[in-house]
Amino acid sequence: MTANPSAADYRAAADRLALPSRAFIDGAWRPAVSGRTFENRDPATGAVLGQVAHCDGRDVDLAVAAARRAFEDGAWSRAAPEERKAVLLRLADLVRANAEELAVMESLDSGKTIRDCLNEIGHEVPTFFQWYAELADKSFGKVAPTGEKSLAMIVKEPVGVVGLVLPWNFPLLMAAWKLAPALAAGCSAVLKPAEQTPLTALRLAELAAEAGLPAGVLNVVPGFGETAGQAIGRHRDIDVVSFTGSTEVGAYFLRYASESNLKPVGLEMGGKSPFIVLDDADIDEALVSSAVSAAFWNGGQNCSANMRQIVDRRVKDAFLDRVLAKTRALAVGDPLDPATDLGAMVSEEHRARVLSYIEAGRQEGARLLAGGGPSAGLAGSFVDPTVFDAVTPSMRVAREEIFGPVLGVIAVDGIEEALRVARDTDYGLHATIFTRDIDKAFHLARRLPCGTVAVNGFTEGNVTTPFGGYKRSGSLARDNGTEAVDQYLQTKTIWVSLR
Ligand code: NAD
Repeated sequence: MTANPSAADYRAAADRLALPSRAFIDGAWRPAVSGRTFENRDPATGAVLGQVAHCDGRDVDLAVAAARRAFEDGAWSRAAPEERKAVLLRLADLVRANAEELAVMESLDSGKTIRDCLNEIGHEVPTFFQWYAELADKSFGKVAPTGEKSLAMIVKEPVGVVGLVLPWNFPLLMAAWKLAPALAAGCSAVLKPAEQTPLTALRLAELAAEAGLPAGVLNVVPGFGETAGQAIGRHRDIDVVSFTGSTEVGAYFLRYASESNLKPVGLEMGGKSPFIVLDDADIDEALVSSAVSAAFWNGGQNCSANMRQIVDRRVKDAFLDRVLAKTRALAVGDPLDPATDLGAMVSEEHRARVLSYIEAGRQEGARLLAGGGPSAGLAGSFVDPTVFDAVTPSMRVAREEIFGPVLGVIAVDGIEEALRVARDTDYGLHATIFTRDIDKAFHLARRLPCGTVAVNGFTEGNVTTPFGGYKRSGSLARDNGTEAVDQYLQTKTIWVSLR
């Protein structure tokens, strides 16, 4: 491709892509046992991209059997950590080398902008494989404080076969968040991408095999939640499930576990995160960019989207003026155009859901200042970035996860009201605080029941920092950071009696 590819260049690259269509089980491509397929569409155009294997319980059984065999034969699970490290580093390099192809594939599959896909797949995804690869041979066990007559070692072992069930909003990045630590730990995996976005996880499995991952260690079963997802949740030979998705489906996984083999379930779920602006904050470019990207990044299809913007009444007008100007300048359109800021919603069905929330906001009396509907002149699943003022904490748009480009401003008087409103939610994933006063920042950061608090800049952290939620946003499990590996390890005590 040219140095600065255009939309036409990316479209031409898209036309040249060979899209995966079968499951990847035990190192080989396979159709679903049933022979069934499902249609995979580009949400930006509605075009059918292809047919993908519609895996169900029988395919999951095959994948788990392959994963178990691979785990027991030890080629990966008992390999020296530096051998696992070498393979994962090669995988990081292969993702980098194929980033453009993967990014175009992901943009087509999900409606995400090519800019975001290139950033996530060109930089973040390989960073995850690299970071956990490097951790593999730097994690030590412990020796317990016993007397001289005994030696007690505390060692960590890979937990076994892990089921990884993924959402559609960051398809390859979420795969990397889970796979990199699970593989570094020595586990075998059965991974189910979301039915809306099956493609890049399948291509990743092929790259992992090319990097030297033994057959059966990574199996990818595309399919639907009720069939393939439930089969993973209920499988008696899966040792751990790590799930990212909605709170509703996360609750199903707890039920599946309790009704099968009591496997531990790590849950990363939804959010309704606050963005707090105190009256001493500078309403400057950094703040306004953060507010806009907190609400609209990835079309608002982001678990940590800060849609509840809780703004001190004294600075609200200045805040809204600048946020509106920036929102109106956002380019909505062809995801493959590098100038596009907001691509398509992942599906028509999801767009309808987002639009129904915008309607609910109107009906409940929130004041619509920007957007408010489908994007004019665009045929696919697009929604214009929408800003509501006069949102109150009891409105549905302030309580329920919308997962679309909707920013709502709730005016408050002072820090204690801001804290009360921010805490008034069932979720606890993320929060952003803007203030010049470090004492106030820490007061809020400590009292907000959520997994990540960003001060004076919207961020989710990076590979080094654990990510997960309090309350209905998550379980005690964390993705990212050294904590992520804990999801995939067992702890064993070996006690030696000495003479
Ligand atoms: P979803 O819960 O609908 O689906 C997630 C996965 O679960 C998919 O693979 C799906 O096929 C599967 N699934 C659906 N129904 C199932 C069932 N009955 N049994 C078993 N599996 C089932 O979520 P989504 O719409 O793909 O993603 C959006 C949600 O994900 C949002 O709520 C968002 O907040 C959340 N999310 C959270 C994080 C995080 O780290 N906390 C990150 C990204 C997305």
